[in-house]
Amino acid sequence: MQKNQEFTVTIEDMNEDGAGVGRLEGYIWFIKDTVIGDVVRAKAMKMKKTYGFACLVEVLSPSSFRVKPPCPVARQCGGCQLQAMSYEEQLRFKERKVLNNLLRIGRFSEEEIHMLPIMGMDHPWRYRNKAQFPFGEDKEGRIITGFYVGRTHAIIENEDCLLGVEENRKILEIIKAYMVSEGIRPYNEQTHKGLLRHALIRKGFRTGELMVCLVINGKKLPGSDKLVRMLCEIEGMRSISYSINQEKTNVIMGKETVNLYGPGYITDYIGNVKYQISPLSFYQVNPVQTEKLYGTALEYAELTGDETVWDLYCGIGTISLFLAQKAKKVYGVEIVPQAIEDARRNAALNGIKNAEFFVGKAEEVLPREYESNHIYADVIVVDPPRKGCDKVCLDTILEMSPKKVVYVSCDSATLARDLRYLADGGYRVEKVRCCDMFGGTVHVETVALLTRKAR
Ligand code: SAH
Repeated sequence: MQKNQEFTVTIEDMNEDGAGVGRLEGYIWFIKDTVIGDVVRAKAMKMKKTYGFACLVEVLSPSSFRVKPPCPVARQCGGCQLQAMSYEEQLRFKERKVLNNLLRIGRFSEEEIHMLPIMGMDHPWRYRNKAQFPFGEDKEGRIITGFYVGRTHAIIENEDCLLGVEENRKILEIIKAYMVSEGIRPYNEQTHKGLLRHALIRKGFRTGELMVCLVINGKKLPGSDKLVRMLCEIEGMRSISYSINQEKTNVIMGKETVNLYGPGYITDYIGNVKYQISPLSFYQVNPVQTEKLYGTALEYAELTGDETVWDLYCGIGTISLFLAQKAKKVYGVEIVPQAIEDARRNAALNGIKNAEFFVGKAEEVLPREYESNHIYADVIVVDPPRKGCDKVCLDTILEMSPKKVVYVSCDSATLARDLRYLADGGYRVEKVRCCDMFGGTVHVETVALLTRKAR
């Protein structure tokens, strides 16, 4: 096979990144934008010894799982890798991916893994409460906004991403009209000139409150009164601000926020816990599914009110505050100091007094507290980043020997690795359940319950 040569192949599988996998005379092809079951014509792009990458030329015979992506720029944008697959099949894909990793990387047998049905979304569209739109201009100098095309900084124009809220479109139209009337130019990364870099938009799904924060390459936003007036015509507008970012950087938000309208935050709820969200706060982007995921973690913890619980990698304390309502005491550990400030503030805001938070690495705070203060845990919950738990952290958990460990994971490969380690250390994997927080994409969250085996 030569580069650019075309061939016909059947898609038999999907890889972790959502590309279709086809086989031709023992050689493996990865083909983006295809769906398991498709027969396609593809063009060879890049070839390695045993596998290669090809691009889709034509779907010759569509898979029964294939749907027409509702987003007109689904393919160019690349943000949704699975949009051409029916939502039901996306859910199956995600479950298979997690199970495969548990069997392959975790070396568990199928009998050992009790998987409960994935928690899917009732409406897998418009589920994101947050969007960050970069601004730029097209060849004619017209202001455009949308998303960066996968791994590049070219903007694909799209003011109505179907994962985001309906208000985004109106807000972006207003911002563009305001820019034109004030002669404000979008920021240009090459020349470091132009004022408006990004617009951050957030919505509280339960409260309907909206936040807009413009990120600018300057200290002042000219004619901001006019912008505020225009934006306030949108129902729910509650907080308008700008963020100063004059650095040559890919980091979107600046450090300093200047408030233009409202209290500087919007309010939202996950379960019955209330959150104040400012432009810089971390907050789960899919609060509806977060409630299901963390609700499952809480259910697995089976608290009666007498337990001491540790929530490692606690972020802004979403899980901790959920647990605190049913536990005697919850301790949270998180590496980012601002997140812990938010966690403490959120605890106070909700009148939760039995949650205490530590700033530091889980693998340092937990052993330190265990050795010097002889801390104890009935239940340990972990919700680590993609790289999973540090070995020292897992070793300390094994030494502390809680009755239960609840593992919340956004990466099933490291989940599988860590569950194997805990299983070898004396724990049994009782149940595993996936939750879809990011429909259209390949990402999936998983919660697993482990119990200590009798010695
Ligand atoms: N449950 C949290 C989100 C967890 S995301 C919430 O709802 O807010 C994973 C978190 O782990 C992030 O907040 C990240 O800052 C933190 N983190 C990363 N490495 C860490 C480490 N070594 N020790 C403690 N926290 C860490």
